[in-house]
Amino acid sequence: MKNQGRMSYEYFYIIFSLMVISAVLSLTFFMAWKNFGHEKHALTWSAAFLAGTLQWGCTVNFNLFPSAEAYLLVENALSIAMITLGLRGHCQRTRCRLLPKNLWPYTLAVYSIIAWHILVSPHTGLRMSVVPIYAALTLGMSSYLVISFREQTRPAEWAAAIAIAIFAASQFGTGILAFMQGAVGDESVRAAYLHFNFLTLPAGYIATSMLIILMIASDIAAQMREMAIKDQLTGLLNRRGFTENGERAFAAARRSDQPLSVIMTDIDRFKYINDKYGHATGDTALAHFANLMSEGRRKEDIVARVGGEEFALLLPGTELRDAMAIADQLCKKIGATPLETTAVGLPMTSSFGVAAISEKDATLDDMVLRADRALYRSKRAGRNQVDLESSQMMLAADGSLQPLS
Ligand code: GH3
Ligand code: MG
Ligand code: MG
Repeated sequence: MKNQGRMSYEYFYIIFSLMVISAVLSLTFFMAWKNFGHEKHALTWSAAFLAGTLQWGCTVNFNLFPSAEAYLLVENALSIAMITLGLRGHCQRTRCRLLPKNLWPYTLAVYSIIAWHILVSPHTGLRMSVVPIYAALTLGMSSYLVISFREQTRPAEWAAAIAIAIFAASQFGTGILAFMQGAVGDESVRAAYLHFNFLTLPAGYIATSMLIILMIASDIAAQMREMAIKDQLTGLLNRRGFTENGERAFAAARRSDQPLSVIMTDIDRFKYINDKYGHATGDTALAHFANLMSEGRRKEDIVARVGGEEFALLLPGTELRDAMAIADQLCKKIGATPLETTAVGLPMTSSFGVAAISEKDATLDDMVLRADRALYRSKRAGRNQVDLESSQMMLAADGSLQPLS
């Protein structure tokens, strides 16, 4: 094992920097785990960089090892652990089902190849190429996992995936050069390997981890955005989410001259349910009601809890008469599906108001306001019924819709 006994100053500085950078990254990912919702992948990446810190620490202090073999066994074990944990983190983040959950048996198989070429049949080229080739493979896989995770890959994910892929390619090159050293380690190839490795490794290491941190930040931003537009109790959109999505649907309906209808509903005598059964049962009733509202809806429909016990359903591409039919069905379904809390079901009814987009509507609010007025009329008329805003159509005696002349 010649060449292990000396390390030039340049390489020492680079390796020392990598050790410090690894320690900082390990701490960064640990804090990301602790402070941003205990996401498993952040902890896994913290462990990966801890293994990296120890690995570079071993290299800096290689003269403390009893033998070159002992050093190589420990250093390679840490490298392999770091690489595996890196991939595991991506699997956790993307909830990947492509790869087995337990990667350690494969890791052990890879490690035994290295150990074999250290202890049994020493071969410099083979021993030194296994780690970069393994890194290239797992980085390639990680890059694929990042971009195949969601339908619309986020910019931060693209950036991370591209950096990881470039790093994978450079590790592959490092692996090839390492292998070309041959069994005893050709001096000139070794020089080329060292130059290439120490040129690409720190850059790849820092660029990929920075962009992975940016990716975690974009995950958090997306989570916060989601929380801002979602109602925690029912999982439906809240008023803000309804307005944001609804305005887009309103503009689209305007642009394409397509119909758009809205159903507003308010649970009847909900205060009584709260007073009689308690606030917790009231909450369960709201979740139950939300389920009934969202059951069987199309992908483009927008269902929201816009107030305490008020809900809205925006139906793109739906004419007023079809929206009336949907409201009627909902009204009947709610009346017929009591909440199963106690031995006797808790009956619930709701009142509905329906409106469709009209030329006079400047915004979504105008349309919602008319549906609200219709809802108010349903309440006044005795609750548990559907009314439609009367500016466009009227309900004829036979139950059909007639244009208001
Ligand atoms: P109406 O038929 O006229 O709509 O009567 P109502 O009792 O449903 O209407 P009111 O506006 O008087 O009462 C609404 C009640 O909804 C009062 C409020 O305490 C309750 N409420 C609002 N938000 C929540 C919630 O998140 N959980 C529970 N349990 N109750 C809520
Ligand atoms: Mg009510
Ligand atoms: Mg109300």
